[in-house]
Amino acid sequence: MGDSRQSGATVRRVRLGDGQPPAYLITSPCCGVPTLIQAWMADYVRANRAGHLRVACGHGTGDPLLAQHAAGRGCGRRFLIRLDQDPPTVDGSS
Ligand SMILES: [Zn+2]
Repeated sequence: MGDSRQSGATVRRVRLGDGQPPAYLITSPCCGVPTLIQAWMADYVRANRAGHLRVACGHGTGDPLLAQHAAGRGCGRRFLIRLDQDPPTVDGSS
């Protein structure tokens, strides 16, 4: 398989401390606006959505706290985070 990460998206594993499981900090392929995917959310997406999570640039995942965190940034363009892969990948082509 070729490298499909032609965009500017990055996926980084982060530790939040306080004994919480690691989360993923994912930047949008268009604007580079960060979205934090909590470990429980990644688990939920893997279990219920085949690991596919659609988010909108700057709008996070629908979590009000995350949306507020990124308020005023991002263009709203949707992209796909594939959490069924390790490490996760970002598909911004559709
Ligand atoms: Zn954007």
